[in-house]
Order: sequence, then C-alpha cells, then structure tokens
Amino acid sequence: MTTMIAARLHNYGEPMRLDRIPVPEPRPTDVLVEVKACGIVPNLARVVANFFGSKTPDLKIMPPLPAIFGLDPTGVIAKVGDQVRAVRPGDRVYVNPARKCGSCRMCRGGQPLDCPHFTFQGYFGRSQEIMKAYPYGGLCQYITAPQDALVKLPDNVSFQAAARFGYFGTAYAAMKKLGVGPGQAFLVNGISGTLGLNAAMLALAMGATRILGTGRNAALLNRVKALSPQRIEVLAVDDAKGPPAGGSDPLVTWAKSMTDGYGVDSVLDCLPPGAPATALMRALYTLRRGGRAANVGAVMEMLPLNAFWLMTNRIALQGSVWFTTGEGEELAAMAAAGTLDVSVLEHRVFSLSQVNEALAGMDDRAGGFTNFIVDPTRVD
Ligand SMILES: [Zn+2]
Repeated sequence: MTTMIAARLHNYGEPMRLDRIPVPEPRPTDVLVEVKACGIVPNLARVVANFFGSKTPDLKIMPPLPAIFGLDPTGVIAKVGDQVRAVRPGDRVYVNPARKCGSCRMCRGGQPLDCPHFTFQGYFGRSQEIMKAYPYGGLCQYITAPQDALVKLPDNVSFQAAARFGYFGTAYAAMKKLGVGPGQAFLVNGISGTLGLNAAMLALAMGATRILGTGRNAALLNRVKALSPQRIEVLAVDDAKGPPAGGSDPLVTWAKSMTDGYGVDSVLDCLPPGAPATALMRALYTLRRGGRAANVGAVMEMLPLNAFWLMTNRIALQGSVWFTTGEGEELAAMAAAGTLDVSVLEHRVFSLSQVNEALAGMDDRAGGFTNFIVDPTRVD
C-alpha cells in the first residue's frame, strides 16, 4: 500500500481525473483513514464548475490545484500517528471535515467553529495553509485527518448513512441553538430538501411534538409527512410567486392554525441557493412572540427585515455553520439507539471512476431522500 487512486480536479470547469498518487503518512497526532464512502453534496458540482471563481477572483478560499474534493468521508482507520490515544486501526469513523487553526483565541477557548481560519477539508475555506496541510478530500482511497476530527461509528450505522452526517450535523447544531424539543412547534422552511429532510428526521429524534414544513413539491412533501403523520404537517408554497399582495399570508395563517394561534416556537431555514429573500421572510413571520430562527440555508438576497418588528416581537435570528465533532458523536449515538432513524435514506452509490457522472446526475433526485455516495474502494 504505497500508492492510491484519487479523483482530482486539475482545472475548474473540467471533469475530475483519476490519478495514481502516494498514500500519505499520518503526522503524529493524525490518523490515516481508508475511505469506504464519501457523501456528495449537491453544491459540489457548482463549486468544481467555478461557482466561486467569478465572485472571488483570487480564489484564496479554494484548495490549490490539482485538488481532491469530497466533504463527507467515512471509512476505517488504517494507521495512527504515535501520539494518537483513543482510536486505533480498524475503528469505523466519520471524518468531520471542519478544520481550525488550533491556536487562536476561539480555538483555545473550545469554539473551533468560530476560528477565523475555519476550513473544510476537501471543499473550501478560509486558510490555504490548512488546505495544504490536509489536502485529501473523500474522493480518494486514503485520507489523513486529525485525531480530534473523528466520529466513531457504531456497527449498526452504515458507511453510506454516516456519509450524510454533514447535513445531519448542520441541521442538528442549529436545532440545538433553537432549543427544539418536547412541547415545541418547529417549522422547517424547505423540509423536503437534503438539509430540510434531515432536520425533520432530527426533530422526530429530539422529541419535537409539532413539526411543520414547507416545500414546493407536493409529492415529496407527502413522503416527508408519512415519516410521522401524527407529528408532521406540510404546506406547499410557491417561492417564486411569494405571498399574496395585501391581506395575510396563507403560510402564516396555516402555521398559527397549527399552534393555537400563537405561531411556531422556532424556524430553521433550509432553502436552496437561488431562493428569494421573501421566501425566508415568510417563514420568519410564522414565529410566535419570542420565537427563534436559525439560518442554515443558502438564500443570498438581502433580507427586507424590519428591525422594529424584530424588537417588538422579541425575535432572534441566528446564522449557523456546520457542527462540532462532539455533536457528530451525539448523532452517531442517536443513530445507534434508533431514535434517529436513517433507514429512509435511499443510497445511490457510484464507483470512484463514476465521480463525474455522479456530479452530473445530482439534479435527478427525490429531494433529500436520495443520498449520493461515491465508493472509492470501487474503481471500475
Ligand atoms: Zn483558530
């Protein structure tokens, strides 16, 4: 085992190519993981087609080329550095790709997600140095990773299901900030998408008693409701048209009708890139007085947000990005216990040689139910 196959991007806008490169040696506090599955996020196709290139001409946020992408790797530890303590070869793991500098005030204070150098291994980030130190995304056969980035996987959680932890964790960390739990009414804006579906599955696991969801596709919404018909209610909304001019928004009226007229306790916005600001605002207006909203979606338009309305209604609005390795461990524990039921995911598995087909085919999916996986152990 001295060389491996990696799918590498040599130029933005071109297909990835399979290259034979050396298997890396883990540093003393790192591990080497043999990748068994890598989750593919729908945004990766846009990123490798130079999504950021036109917006950030210096490309500082992107890894140096040729680059190995792949945000959500799972696999088996093959080798450990001589200062690695509590994990050993043979352990099954999810590799949290969140990298931090380790020595800034936020890192030293135990807030790695607030590190100014926060960088995703195998994707993009704020530090070229970190990207060079960890240049292996999950679209290759062996990756190095720091020992504190590993979520140990129980035997009953498959590599494919755990390769979805990036989305689960993003929703989960935001939902913990919102206090989602028993007795709470929680609205997921965009509930049938990849993030939104995972938020609904987590809301069931976390004990939320009333789960409301919006979406565009009625058939997909019905599939989401079928996860728990007693607790989940869905409403089809048309983002493009927005709320009717004058009078009350049917979305707000519906949410209040589900909550004894109060409005919901919390909102998680999971809208996809390109969704208009009005679609996020409509969801905010479903909040009760004192309600809290978190944004993990990709609305990029400026919000028409009235600060006076925010103040008088005691509304909180928070951004949230990714999740800690500790939160990943909580996901693994919930999945192991069966409180988080991951069986509804439909894995669509591609070999490493099919990586470009996988990226090209991501628009053909049953919302968040389809889980796109590349299996680097297969090169055919
Ligand atoms: Zn730091």
